[in-house]
Amino acid sequence: MSVSLDMSHAVRPVPAPAPRDLIGLDRDEIGLELAKLGLDPKEARMRAKQLWNWVYVNGVTDFGRMTNVSKGARQLFADNFTLDRPEIVAEQVSADGTRKWLFRFRDPAQPNLPPVDVETVYIPEIDRGTLCVSSQVGCTLTCTFCHTGTQRLVRNLTAGEILSQILVARERLGDFPGGTRPADGGLVPAGDTRAITNIVMMGMGEPLYNFDNVKKALLIASDGDGISLSKRRITLSTSGVVPEIRRTGDEIGVMLAISLHAVRDDLRNELVPINKKWPLAELLEACRTYPGVSNARRITFEYVMLKGVNDSDADARELVRLLAKIPAKINLIPFNPWPGSPYECSDWDRIESFADIVNRAGYASPVRTPRGRDIFAACGQLKSESERLSRKQREALSV
Ligand code: SAH
Ligand code: SF4
Repeated sequence: MSVSLDMSHAVRPVPAPAPRDLIGLDRDEIGLELAKLGLDPKEARMRAKQLWNWVYVNGVTDFGRMTNVSKGARQLFADNFTLDRPEIVAEQVSADGTRKWLFRFRDPAQPNLPPVDVETVYIPEIDRGTLCVSSQVGCTLTCTFCHTGTQRLVRNLTAGEILSQILVARERLGDFPGGTRPADGGLVPAGDTRAITNIVMMGMGEPLYNFDNVKKALLIASDGDGISLSKRRITLSTSGVVPEIRRTGDEIGVMLAISLHAVRDDLRNELVPINKKWPLAELLEACRTYPGVSNARRITFEYVMLKGVNDSDADARELVRLLAKIPAKINLIPFNPWPGSPYECSDWDRIESFADIVNRAGYASPVRTPRGRDIFAACGQLKSESERLSRKQREALSV
């Protein structure tokens, strides 16, 4: 008699869990991960501290290099965690030293989904080096003068992906101990030991629509035992997500910038459509009451100069009047064009006349020099080719 076995109910081997990305976990979370691996609380705390130092102070991506960690623990970490960097798809250097990277990320939670591309920009100046970091791929908002606004939101970046932009930029600029500065025009601020002295959340996306991840990443970037950037050197720019502005001050404590761009609701509704939800009066009230705002910690108001749209002397006078009771800096941004953009930049004498009025009201050097226009790295020129998938496509890929 022949016996056939029905194997359809046999237990399939459980695949080993994918290594967990350590970048973007806060210290408590790293401690918990270590406890899950069986470390007792005291050792977990000690190892978490060591890992933090290797990752954020030394920029190490290989557990094997963690020389003060025992061999057994290094192997345990290597088997269970990863410190992988994103792929650098492109790195461009502008004639003025500005650098732009195109990074490719895979969503760790959904590895079957296609990767996304993100742009990050480094702007060296005499006295500082600023990294312009992205918070989302694309944007849900549709500001009419912004290239990112023409790309639909693909997805929010994770805290790890936001931090990875900083870590890779530090690596490429030779900011970690033992690193080398780039030879090709990588100007580094004089008298500073770091290429990156400042961070601005002014890349792709609206950071306050990805609050939790942005908060986590910025708290890690400003942690005194890690990357250790002062919160006064980190600026978050928002188009005006009013309900999250107070939380930004209370929970993150970084400097705030507001994309104002118009002094009347009718025009701002058109240029920055989120204004229909939270109009100027509400936005300015949130600024007046921003936690920690003072003359020493001013809010920056960004104002893009659009020819014949928002650049009259009357607009300048109204701008000064609107901001009168707020500790403010004004940043006039010459419009940076992109393919098919519906505006022109104001003429230089118009910008000067506008800036004169702002200057006379007591605001110093208000015009922002466009940087990296030749490599499409200037404000508002960022946009990646990543596309949002339809729900059907997502479902097909994520099984
Ligand atoms: N979403 C956030 C942060 C990213 S945009 C925000 O809107 O604030 C960074 C700055 O560049 C914003 O002030 C934005 O309004 C401005 N900007 C957008 N497109 C621009 C363009 N084409 N030229 C000059 N500035 C632009
Ligand atoms: Fe989004 Fe900011 Fe561009 Fe507006 S200006 S579309 S909020 S990235």
